[in-house]
Amino acid sequence: MPKKSPKPRLRVPRGIELLHDPLWNKGTAFTERERDALGLRGLLPPHVLTIEEQEQRVLANLRREPNDLERYVQLISLQDRNETLFYHVVMNHVEEMMPIIYTPTVGQACQQFGLLFRQTRGLYVSAHDRGRVARLLRNWPRRDVRAVVVTDGERILGLGDLGAFGMGIPIGKLSLYTACAGVHPAQCMPVMLDVGTENEALLRDPLYTGLCQRRLRGKAYDALVDEFVTAVHSRWPKALIQFEDFANVNAFRLLARYRKKICTFNDDIQGTAAVTLAGLYSALRITRQALRDQTILFLGAGEAGVGIGELIVSAMQEEGVPTDAARRRCWFVDSHGLVVKGRDNLAEHKLPFAHDHPFCADFLDAIRALKPTAIIGVSAMPKTFTRPVVEAMAELNERPIIFALSNPTSKAECTAEEAYTWSKGRAIYASGSPFPPCTYEGKTFVPGQGNNAYIFPGVGLGVIACEARHVSDRMFAEAAKALAAQVLDSDLAMGRVYPSLQRIQEVSAGIAAAVAACAYRENLARAKKPKDILEFIRSKMWRPQYRSYV
Ligand code: NAD
Repeated sequence: MPKKSPKPRLRVPRGIELLHDPLWNKGTAFTERERDALGLRGLLPPHVLTIEEQEQRVLANLRREPNDLERYVQLISLQDRNETLFYHVVMNHVEEMMPIIYTPTVGQACQQFGLLFRQTRGLYVSAHDRGRVARLLRNWPRRDVRAVVVTDGERILGLGDLGAFGMGIPIGKLSLYTACAGVHPAQCMPVMLDVGTENEALLRDPLYTGLCQRRLRGKAYDALVDEFVTAVHSRWPKALIQFEDFANVNAFRLLARYRKKICTFNDDIQGTAAVTLAGLYSALRITRQALRDQTILFLGAGEAGVGIGELIVSAMQEEGVPTDAARRRCWFVDSHGLVVKGRDNLAEHKLPFAHDHPFCADFLDAIRALKPTAIIGVSAMPKTFTRPVVEAMAELNERPIIFALSNPTSKAECTAEEAYTWSKGRAIYASGSPFPPCTYEGKTFVPGQGNNAYIFPGVGLGVIACEARHVSDRMFAEAAKALAAQVLDSDLAMGRVYPSLQRIQEVSAGIAAAVAACAYRENLARAKKPKDILEFIRSKMWRPQYRSYV
C-alpha cells in the first residue's frame, strides 16, 4: 500500500511579516519557542501574555474611550492586527460589541469612512474595472473564499447613498459571519462595487475614497454586476454571494436574476423577512394566536417590508391559507399612503399587495380602517409611530404587536420606552437597533432587537457547510422557525421576542442545521449528507483560539 503522504506543514510567515499578518499574528502571546523558531526574538516586548490577559487589555482600552465611534476605530484596528484576538473579544462580549462593530455604530463609521480610513480591508471593484474583474480577483490573497458580501453603497442602512463609504457594511456583516456563526475569517471577502454616487456632499468631499462620478445605471451597471458575479463564481464556485444595501430598484431585480443561477441571497429582503417572521412567531406565543389570523400593516413598502410580506404569505400558506387570502392579511403604507389597487405608478414589487380598498393618505387612518393586530415599521422615517398610532393599536388589541425596525437608532419609528408607555405596558415591541431595558409601572421590559444578525450568519454557515447550489425561500422559513424555537419562556416573560445575543453561536448553529437539512431535502446540497447535521455544522465552526506554530 502506498504510504500516506504527511500533512503539509503550515506555511506560517516569519519575523515582521508574521506580526503584520492579522490571520496569523498573536502579538504578545507568541511563546518563547515561537519567538526563537519564527524570527521574532527582539521584535516583541519580553513579557508573554495569554489571550485572556490580552483580552483584559483590549477591554480596558475600549471601555475608557469616550464614545462608540472611537471604540469602533479601536476594534477595527485590532481586527487589522490580530483577527484571533479580535474575535475572541467580540465572541466573549457579543452583546457589548455587536452595536459597535455593526448597527448602529457602523452607520456613523460609514458616514465618516474617509476620515477614519487607516488600512484597506476588502476588495474594491469599480466602474473603471470593467473588462478586468476576473484579473483583479486574482489579487485577493486567500484561496478558499466561501462568503462574499457585496454592496454598491446606494442604500446604507437607513442613511441613503454613501457610495464607497458603504464598505463598512460588508466588513461588519462578515465580522458577524465569523463572530456569530464561526465562518473562518480567511473564507470571507467584503466587496465594494463602486459605481459612483449621487451624494452631492461626497462628490465635493476631498477625503471621499470612492469614484467621483455619478452612478453607473442601466446596461453598463448590469454588465459590471454580471462580470463580477461570473468572475467570483468561476474562481470560487462554492462561494455564497450576499447582496447587501443595494437600492430597491436594483435589489429585487438582481435577486430575481441570480437566485436560480448561483448561490446567493439578499439579506435586506430575505434575512429581514426571516428575522421578523421569527419575532412574530414569538409574539404569537404571548398572544396565543395563530399567524393566519393576523392582519399586518407595514409602514414602508421597500425591500425590507415587501420581503417580510412575501415570507409571511408563504408561512400562512403553510398554515393552509390560500395565497390571495394570505396577501390580503398584509397591507402597506408607503410615502404616498396606503398601497391600493388603482394607484398610479406603483413599483412592481408592491403590486401583489395592492388590494381593492379605498385609499387612505395617512397611517393612522389606515390603522382605523384595517384594524391590524401588528404594525411593522420599515420606512426609515423616525417618530412615525406617534402616540396616537400606538394608542390606536392598544385600543384595538389587548397585546398590540409593534415592531419599529428602521435603522439606525435615530430612524426608529418609535423608541421602546414610547411603545411601552403609550400602550400602558401592553405592547409587544421589537426594534431594528438596540434599545436599553425600560421600566413601566414597576415592570422591567427588555426590548428584543430584530437584528438580521440572528439569521444571516446561521443561514450563511448552513449554506456554505452543505455547499448549496442555491438559497431557497424555504431555507429562510426554516431559519425563522429555528430562531423562534430558541426563544425561551423566560425571554418572553420580559417582553423579549428574540433570544439573548449571548447565545448567538448556539442559535446560529441551530439555524445552520435547519438550513442545511432543508438543502438536503430540496436536493440543493453538493456536499455528502452527514449522519448528524448539527454535529457536522458544529465541526465546521471556527473558534478564536491561538494554535501552536512550532
Ligand atoms: P427601502 O428604501 O427599500 O424602502 C423604504 C420604504 O419606506 C419605501 O417603500 C418608501 O416609500 C417608504 N417610505 C419612505 N418615507 C415614508 C413615509 N414617510 N411614510 C411611509 N413610508 C415611507 O428600504 P428598506 O431596505 O426597506 O429599509 C427600510 C428601513 O428598514 C431601513 O431603516 C433599514 O435600516 C430598516 N431595516 C431593518 C432591518 C432589521 O431591523 N432587521 C432589516 C432591514 C432593514
